[in-house]
Amino acid sequence: MTITSRFVLGKPLSEVSTFGIGGPAKYYLEAHSVEDMSSALVYCRSENIPYFILGKGSNSLFDDRGFNGLVIANKISFCQYEGHEVYVGAGYSFSLLGVQTAKKGLSGLEFASGIPASVGGAVYMNAGANGKETGDVLTAVEYLTDEGELTSLKKEELEFSYRTSPFQKMKGIILAAKFSLNLFSEARKKQLEIVQYRMDTQPYSEKSAGCVFRNPNPEKAGMLIEQCGLKGFSIGGAEVSTMHANFIVNKNGATAKEVLDLACYVQDVVKQKTGICLDMEIRQIPYEISHV
Ligand SMILES: Cc1cc2nc3c(=O)[nH]c(=O)nc-3n(C[C@H](O)[C@H](O)[C@H](O)COP(=O)(O)OP(=O)(O)OC[C@H]3O[C@@H](n4cnc5c(N)ncnc54)[C@H](O)[C@@H]3O)c2cc1C
Repeated sequence: MTITSRFVLGKPLSEVSTFGIGGPAKYYLEAHSVEDMSSALVYCRSENIPYFILGKGSNSLFDDRGFNGLVIANKISFCQYEGHEVYVGAGYSFSLLGVQTAKKGLSGLEFASGIPASVGGAVYMNAGANGKETGDVLTAVEYLTDEGELTSLKKEELEFSYRTSPFQKMKGIILAAKFSLNLFSEARKKQLEIVQYRMDTQPYSEKSAGCVFRNPNPEKAGMLIEQCGLKGFSIGGAEVSTMHANFIVNKNGATAKEVLDLACYVQDVVKQKTGICLDMEIRQIPYEISHV
């Protein structure tokens, strides 16, 4: 079966993003193996088709027109334990990994529970919470370069910082990751506390893509937005969450434009009132990408 025969035409991207926003992808593929990924890349290169690698769509805002290329959803999903190390496919649920490792009495990924990411997306974004980041416990990444070469990158070769990884400047695909954890008898208790705190403080059951803005050290973006009186402010179907001001929620069929207009408005008000510029953390995926 050729890879193109598995392409879905016109898949609504609103179905694969936690925001519930986005028009159709010209082509959409669920890639379950390294071979699927390689074949898709080879095809995109030969046909000059732009591609976008999708994890669980929990940090992505797709365009209202959709995506004029191939969206490759990473579904490589396995999880193997070797002592205190866990080797996991990039399509695996990061939240589930946080729960499962904690249940085994392994500490280091408790913060992952409740982050609705894929492992690949968490590595790419250096996702973090409760003072911990993905890069803190990562030891290696299996990677497929844009040229189709399979490589294994060690943590020492990779530089992570707040919501930033070297992969954001690279064009290939994270296939799998290894994490090194520690034995800790209270790991499950800690993980349950973290997830409870998340439920109590974040609009977890609403459609969003998590925090809209990066925290401008040493300030908290949510606190600044709240102090500017913007909680509950809305444009169309997009609203600044009444629960956590750094979340924009899709209340009522919001469009990407409404979310972006609201984000710009928040940036303007916060700049005027505090002098602080807020940078977007959410990744805005344009209709056209010219990286092939
Ligand atoms: C309710 C809620 C709570 C959240 N809480 C947190 C939090 O506490 N901390 C935090 O840091 N974030 C949080 N987020 C944001 C989000 O979950 C993270 O940014 C996460 O890392 C995104 O992972 P994903 O798989 O959904 O990525 P996607 O949105 O699918 O993709 C994000 C970016 O990663 C790239 N990417 C994804 N997978 C791969 C891959 N395999 N190879 C190469 N590139 C890839 C994509 O191309 C894209 O540029 C939250 C989001 C929601 C909705």
